[in-house]
Amino acid sequence: MYNKDNIFAKIITKEIPCDLIFEDEKVIFFHDIRPQAKIHILGIPKAEVINLSDFVQTCGQDEVYYFFQKIYEVLRKFNLQKTGYRLITNEGVNSNQEVPHFHVHILGGEKLGSLN
Ligand code: AMP
Repeated sequence: MYNKDNIFAKIITKEIPCDLIFEDEKVIFFHDIRPQAKIHILGIPKAEVINLSDFVQTCGQDEVYYFFQKIYEVLRKFNLQKTGYRLITNEGVNSNQEVPHFHVHILGGEKLGSLN
């Protein structure tokens, strides 16, 4: 069950400010407040969905496609499609997802640590 009190819902409604990168009626991208890399962007569809599973099951393919198109546009804005980046989303107890509104982390701007 989606909880409208989460911090990203409040960013969407402008109750809380953010360091905005791009916004339209469907999506919003802003800088993470505790960056884990030189560039750490959060990308969010505005639909009230908790995680990737919820997004894919609740929203139509046009909306899912649109979100990934916008991710690609943001990657280009920061030249990350050239320099490299990492895309992360957390879901479920094993992931320690902190904010229960679906979001992707885009990390880059420097050499990232290996995952293995
Ligand atoms: P997750 O664990 O995937 O839910 O990640 C939540 C992310 O949201 C963390 O990286 C936080 O640093 C970030 N975060 C929390 N509050 C804010 C905020 N007000 N503005 C920007 N980023 C935030």
